[in-house]
Amino acid sequence: MAGKKVIITGVPGVGKTSVITDTIQKLADDGVPYQSINFGTFMFEVAKAKGLVQDRDEMRKLGKDEQKALQREASQQIAKIDGNVIIDTHASVKTPSGFLPGLPEWVLRDLMPDVFVLVEADDDQILRRRMSDESRLRDIEGSRSIREHQEFNRAAAASYAMLTGCTVLYIENADFLLTLSVERLAAVLR
Ligand code: AMP
Ligand code: MG
Repeated sequence: MAGKKVIITGVPGVGKTSVITDTIQKLADDGVPYQSINFGTFMFEVAKAKGLVQDRDEMRKLGKDEQKALQREASQQIAKIDGNVIIDTHASVKTPSGFLPGLPEWVLRDLMPDVFVLVEADDDQILRRRMSDESRLRDIEGSRSIREHQEFNRAAAASYAMLTGCTVLYIENADFLLTLSVERLAAVLR
């Protein structure tokens, strides 16, 4: 059975993981099973085994070639997973040497998504969410650089659509409106 491949992205702190968790639950309740896969976790398992990092938030500070090698290993493993899958990842990763595409051409070929989702929110809301998240080592950024990152991600998403023919869906995850984001996303994936 050929499953549906959905890639979900969003800048750190936008609430991507919450949107995914609740959407999967909602779809399961409606009898549409999806499995969620975290791309960063696949990279982290390899990075940890190689002794490159101890925390997942250290990976984006590694050299870009190291990050690309980890990225390739993750996409090759994820490509083997069947059924309906939601892949939690990033349209681009902010590294010390600039934006690294989350899905360069060779990664896209492995994953071939049907739908590419960008979870977005106002820059100032993201800034506040990052400041109150104790569980992660979030980068400290101003609203303007968060806006730039979200703009770059829209451009990256458009190029991913050109390469694969996937559709691109923007999901606004505004403060206190998580259920609305989940309803909109579930309606498309059902
Ligand atoms: P997350 O938990 O989604 O924030 O992912 C943790 C880390 O995994 C990110 O900060 C990146 O370093 C890395 N990562 C996740 N997806 C990708 C990707 N597609 N390409 C490169 N790095 C990624
Ligand atoms: Mg997350």
